[in-house]
Amino acid sequence: MRLQGVLLDLDGTLVDHESAVRDALRAWLPSLGVPATDEVVALWAVAQERHLVAWRERRVSFQEQRRRRLRDFLPSVGVRFVDDDEHLDQLFDGYLHWYEQAWRAFDDAEDALTAISRAGLATAVLTNGTVAQQTGKLARVGLLGRVGPVYTAEDIGSAKPAPRAYLIACDRLGLPPAAVLNVGDRYDLDVEGARAAGLRAVHLDRNGGGPMREHSRIASRRELVRFLPS
Ligand SMILES: [Mg+2]
Repeated sequence: MRLQGVLLDLDGTLVDHESAVRDALRAWLPSLGVPATDEVVALWAVAQERHLVAWRERRVSFQEQRRRRLRDFLPSVGVRFVDDDEHLDQLFDGYLHWYEQAWRAFDDAEDALTAISRAGLATAVLTNGTVAQQTGKLARVGLLGRVGPVYTAEDIGSAKPAPRAYLIACDRLGLPPAAVLNVGDRYDLDVEGARAAGLRAVHLDRNGGGPMREHSRIASRRELVRFLPS
């Protein structure tokens, strides 16, 4: 079947989420008396993923996964805190302020969007996030309105890698899954999940983490052109 559309992941694909997190921690943690060492940043990443999984699986709300992240992370870096929701939400707002300041698009965004539109393909964003945060992120980096509709796990009611998230996104795009290529940085969420739903997938492996056996693996979105009709 002819390729007709491209679904783009957001964090780690269009916007440099990892650098934004690191920059935010460097700005925020000293206010808690914690130096943002590589080890501390790694602890945050582990807590972030652990509790985002619970949110993706719809076991907790988006706000509750943030609280759980702090309950998990703060003791691990020796910060004492009052364990009530309001206090945790205030603390998280401190991090969020810096995280939002640090949002940047990857510099391969323009080339990839130009190549996709030259190939005559529809685009949309499919992201595991909330509507407000993810549209705000795209607006901040100047991509909102240039990447097509934005489908989030929140408004779809299902998160990647669930095939349902992909099937609903394709349905909203008005395209059969086999005519849609998904591009994302997480192999488990963006590649395995998309293929399980019948889409094609390209792994955007910016850091070269693999898996190396993957035939549709690119290091930059500039290489996406290989997978587009000429
Ligand atoms: Mg991603």
